[in-house]
Amino acid sequence: MLHNILDLFLPNVCLCCRDHFGGLVCSNCLGSISISKISSSRVRGVDSVTSFTEYKGVMSQLIQYYKLQGFTSLGSTLGEYFLSSMMCLDWTSSVIINVPSHSKRYKERGFDHVTTLYDPLAKTLDLEFASLLKRTRQTPALVGLNKFERINVMKGSISSIDPRINLEGRNVILCDDILTTGTTLSECAVTCRQLGASSVHAVTFAEVYDV
Ligand SMILES: [Zn+2]
Repeated sequence: MLHNILDLFLPNVCLCCRDHFGGLVCSNCLGSISISKISSSRVRGVDSVTSFTEYKGVMSQLIQYYKLQGFTSLGSTLGEYFLSSMMCLDWTSSVIINVPSHSKRYKERGFDHVTTLYDPLAKTLDLEFASLLKRTRQTPALVGLNKFERINVMKGSISSIDPRINLEGRNVILCDDILTTGTTLSECAVTCRQLGASSVHAVTFAEVYDV
């Protein structure tokens, strides 16, 4: 509720450049986010990861305002901005699964920050997100840990919401907001493959290069 109130009453200036503007982000700032499809296979257990921009500058500012400071409507602003690029991917005949939020953070925010980002895409293509995964425990921030520490911290931290879920022979697309270390995506992929998935791909809005 607080988020919506903030959205309504707070800034009438762009959050990024502070120029006057009747919304949260001006078209100049939003337009400065360059979209280019970045594909990599650097995440263990995930066949490919596609991201659309680098996590820096305006993009990182907006994500932080969105996730940490309660500017909920930035989710659909970003979702719309990336929509046409996202639509170029093949979403058909895959099971689309959101990377689950920590339940504590979900409660604090009051909304699922990942699926909200993808709402414009889901509505346009009539896609359905399957929230089939859950966090089994709180895990600390992974940035600053080395690869082996990250794997250890995350091991077993993602499970299916129901062991009877069957993904036999299905292609899964995991969706998240930012690709950082990729360790969480890896854990999600392990769980999907245990449920029978034959391939697991991932899509994120932005990628951090210097993890
Ligand atoms: Zn601006």
